[in-house]
Amino acid sequence: MAAKLAAIGVYTLQDVLFHLPFRYQDRTRLSQIGRLVPGQEAVICAEVLISDVVIRQRRSLLVRVNDGTGSLMLRFFHFNQQQVKQFERGRQVRCFGEVRRGPGMLEMVHPEYRVLSDGADPADGLDNTLTPFYPTTEGVQQTTLRRLSDQALAALDASALVDLLPPEAMRQTQLPDLETALRIVHRPPPNADVQALMEGIHPAHRRLALEELVAHRLGLRLLRVNAQQQHAPLIRPAGELMGSLRSSLQFSLTGAQDRVLLDIVNDMGTPEPMLRLVQGDVGSGKTVVAALAAAQAVESGYQVAMMAPTEILAEQHMLNFSEWFEPLGINVGWLTGKLRTAQRRSAIEAVAMGRERIVVGTHALFQKDVEFENLGLAIIDEQHRFGVHQRMALRNKGADKNTLPHQLIMTATPIPRTLAMTAYADLDVSIIDELPPGRKPVTTVAIDNSRRGEIIDRVGTAIDEGRQVYWVCTLIEESESLQAEAAEDAYATLQEMLPRHKVGLVHGRLKPRDKEAIMQAFKAKEIDLLIATTVIEVGVDVPNASLMIIENAERLGLSQLHQLRGRVGRGSAQSSCILMFQAPLSNNGKERLGIMRETNDGFAIAEKDLSLRGAGEVLGTRQTGLAEFKIAQLGRDDDLLDDVSDIADRLLEGNSPNVQALVRRWIGEEKKDYGGV
Ligand code: ADP
Ligand code: MG
Repeated sequence: MAAKLAAIGVYTLQDVLFHLPFRYQDRTRLSQIGRLVPGQEAVICAEVLISDVVIRQRRSLLVRVNDGTGSLMLRFFHFNQQQVKQFERGRQVRCFGEVRRGPGMLEMVHPEYRVLSDGADPADGLDNTLTPFYPTTEGVQQTTLRRLSDQALAALDASALVDLLPPEAMRQTQLPDLETALRIVHRPPPNADVQALMEGIHPAHRRLALEELVAHRLGLRLLRVNAQQQHAPLIRPAGELMGSLRSSLQFSLTGAQDRVLLDIVNDMGTPEPMLRLVQGDVGSGKTVVAALAAAQAVESGYQVAMMAPTEILAEQHMLNFSEWFEPLGINVGWLTGKLRTAQRRSAIEAVAMGRERIVVGTHALFQKDVEFENLGLAIIDEQHRFGVHQRMALRNKGADKNTLPHQLIMTATPIPRTLAMTAYADLDVSIIDELPPGRKPVTTVAIDNSRRGEIIDRVGTAIDEGRQVYWVCTLIEESESLQAEAAEDAYATLQEMLPRHKVGLVHGRLKPRDKEAIMQAFKAKEIDLLIATTVIEVGVDVPNASLMIIENAERLGLSQLHQLRGRVGRGSAQSSCILMFQAPLSNNGKERLGIMRETNDGFAIAEKDLSLRGAGEVLGTRQTGLAEFKIAQLGRDDDLLDDVSDIADRLLEGNSPNVQALVRRWIGEEKKDYGGV
């Protein structure tokens, strides 16, 4: 049984208590037949009027009963002679079952029933509480789960499951205490609001969700408190290098970039480690802000690591950083998983000896054997692809155990406020809420696959006008090799249909060098039309590209579409995006493409994405467990989040011993990283 229960995450008595029913039956009271509605499950007590075995399509036993408020048919397909005799005219029967619409009147098919003896009390033996139904797994019966929860609830009185939330704060929320909440959700009293219980919005549920959210927030806050007890290098140079870099740029910073840069410079100017998340919509110019921050660290004599989630994006940063820093006499190092052993060894050595002051790369940067001479700033781009664990691995690359690098995390996924409060409670947040001047919003249309020919004509015309075009092939499968095949097919077709134009192909199976060569060729306008897989999703920057076609757009999430579309609209030309779809569209698909047509605002899109797909998908952090809760649900429980931060802050300020206890209770030992560090 233990092995079976493990499949639903139930190991301890406490797990039993936090494993909540998803529905209930009401066997606590008698319902009047006259008030029954189809679909309802109810107990009734009524007198047998007539009982008969009929043979139409199927031989069945029909028993018509009446309780003075109305009649109901009991229908049995499997029955024996003794049952037929039981339903004697005038007998009282008590039944429980689901009410259905029958041919002449409401009926119950195969109800549970009992024929009452003369003078018996019809209410005798009714339940005292609603009957719970638990999410279960093969081989575990509801009766087992009920027995287990009975035992766990009985043990509650004496158990160590004490209420850990501050009573004063809880009084204000008017939610029940922990024990009451658990008793209500597992064994609701007869008058409980079943609808609210099933939707998870009953005060009892909310009490549990609140506690869970508080625990998660505390876990992240502890991470932060811990980080801040350590030292970080003081980065407060004269700012000459940053000044030179700024004046070498071909543009001036937007107000928002300036403001965010100032936040970063201030953070790094104190010996407390910076923990800052920079949010900025695609194209808002995060990279240059990161480079300016890097200049500060380098001028102070520290190393900088810049990490990106994919090779192609790392390459992009490598190009930008080299272009910016090399004229200033600063060499930029390169470290990814795809380096050959010898190259890798010498790259690692250059980093360890401090010969490289800035290193760009992928997650290979935080492998165990990579040691920095004196890492002062770690920049992590497109953070939603990384988990908390990876964030922490870089933290541990500081010069010694008591020194942490400053951390700058950049994300193009605009995180709705509610989600940010929960998922990034360990970070300060700055927002680049302004696009560089001259950007025109991308015009977006959705077009049925059947008009493919027309779209290809349009691509040809655009190229003749001197524009460059992306054609993005997507598949449901994440598999890069299947995507690559689809892209190869499209490449062949389009080359044939657009013979006068230069068509290129880039996908994840190409060697990094080849990929880079193609991207460079596209950037240099040697390629007019680039067929690509979603590898171009993040970061790639070709300002002259002003038309994007996305195949199978209906299959992609909103945030991903927004990222892709962000590859165009970067220059001064009016850009457009064509979302191709396979008809017929589902309602959800219609809604998603509709949103893409209506808005270019990454925040609005993220909010929608959150409500359509859920937090785990939006953050891309399912694997971190961050957005996964046992009871709470983002979206449904958002209005609790203000109380959540109040309560968490209060507990932390008071140095309450309950902080650790809450983290242990809800996050557990196996995820110690969050709370135990
Ligand atoms: P993202 O925030 O999506 O990473 P990038 O950093 O790639 O955006 O910047 C997008 C483009 O905008 C790049 O070509 C970059 O050089 C350019 N850019 C950045 N800041 C400015 C600015 N203040 N004015 C004009 N162009 C800018
Ligand atoms: Mg970027």
